[in-house]
Amino acid sequence: MSKQSHLHCSFCGRSRDEVKILIAGQEGHICEHCVEHAQEIILQELNIKNDANNSASNFKLNVRRPAEIKKFLDEYVIGQDDAKKIIAVAVYNHFKRIANKSQPDEVEIDKSNIIMVGETGTGKTLLAKTIARMLNVPFAIVDATVFTEAGYVGEDVESMLTRLLQNCNYDVAAAERGIVYVDEIDKIARKGDNPSITRDVSGEGVQQGLLKMLEGTEVLVPPQGGRKHPEQKMIKVDTKNILFICGGAFDGIDKVIARRINTNAIGFNVNKDEQEMQRMNLLQFINAQDLKSFGLIPELLGRLPVVTHLNPLDKETLRSILTEPKNALIKQYNRLFDLEGIKLTIEDDVMDFMVEKALEYKLGARGLRSICEGILTDAMFELPGMGQTELNITLDYAESMFKKSKISLLKVA
Ligand code: ADP
Repeated sequence: MSKQSHLHCSFCGRSRDEVKILIAGQEGHICEHCVEHAQEIILQELNIKNDANNSASNFKLNVRRPAEIKKFLDEYVIGQDDAKKIIAVAVYNHFKRIANKSQPDEVEIDKSNIIMVGETGTGKTLLAKTIARMLNVPFAIVDATVFTEAGYVGEDVESMLTRLLQNCNYDVAAAERGIVYVDEIDKIARKGDNPSITRDVSGEGVQQGLLKMLEGTEVLVPPQGGRKHPEQKMIKVDTKNILFICGGAFDGIDKVIARRINTNAIGFNVNKDEQEMQRMNLLQFINAQDLKSFGLIPELLGRLPVVTHLNPLDKETLRSILTEPKNALIKQYNRLFDLEGIKLTIEDDVMDFMVEKALEYKLGARGLRSICEGILTDAMFELPGMGQTELNITLDYAESMFKKSKISLLKVA
């Protein structure tokens, strides 16, 4: 028997043959299993210490003033000033509330959960994501359409917290001050005014399920998501300090607002631009009453006290989205080509062309990326390794690439 096979891990006793790696110390050895285990213990211990340090005073240090929050948002999100201001104040108040744990006899500050209304692709998710990035807290995006009332086919609302836990490696203390963005909240609107005819398991039922969670309660969360299986060990999460931001397009709500403020609903003889303008102008008057008329139950609206709107993106905004945000599309492509040793320049009229196509094909800001891809894919395919150091995209080139690309087939009538 060789001397090697006598060696063993001084921690678990496994012999040399049973492990892949055995690291020698001054008086013993350690195997890869024990190194991993030790690492887990260290992480756990450090987390506990961090939690202990996360006192109210630490929160104060992390939180920025509303004007600073807005400035941060400006770096990533173009326009949408109303929404930014309202969200900045709501987030600031939320963290002030967490930082100043009130005494029982003091005034208690309510949670400032937010609801955003705006067409798809106008930056709702981006705003929520950017807030989470700024605060450096765990963030999860969930889709309200996957939830059903408990007991029916679909997911329980608790599983949205699973997503949050997964995103912070099951660090419960971190998750408890995270942000959850609930997308498509308009899709769980009450189906009709008479809820008693059929059970509304994916509409009002889900809204009811959300109530307690939005307000703040201890929820038992299945760590792997899905239905609560008895064999799954649940994790207890307190939602008291989780900020919920809900978003939805609420198609047709402009008519509800119009009816309320007693102006004529969108006319039939006005041209497209005017229609857009009217919609934009009407959305800015949105309030909880309109959302109630749309089918959100008053109890839910009571737990979403901050209501704000996002404007449709016009030509100028789309043009700025291409180049201005910190991680703007054009900056990303410049970087990609840079890494290849190629200096990319895109002529101004090419950018205008991209914006026109995004509007024409009704693709919004999301479409800008596919349009860029359509125009640049051939170059990204062919150039690596060719030794070329410059690439200038002209309007002719962009137009011909766009015609060849799949998106040009997407045109809606
Ligand atoms: P929504 O949630 O409203 O449907 P998103 O926030 O997901 O829309 O927006 C889709 C994409 O469009 C974003 O990832 C971003 O690249 C771009 N975008 C949309 N609106 C803006 C904006 N106001 N400023 C910068 N980028 C935007």
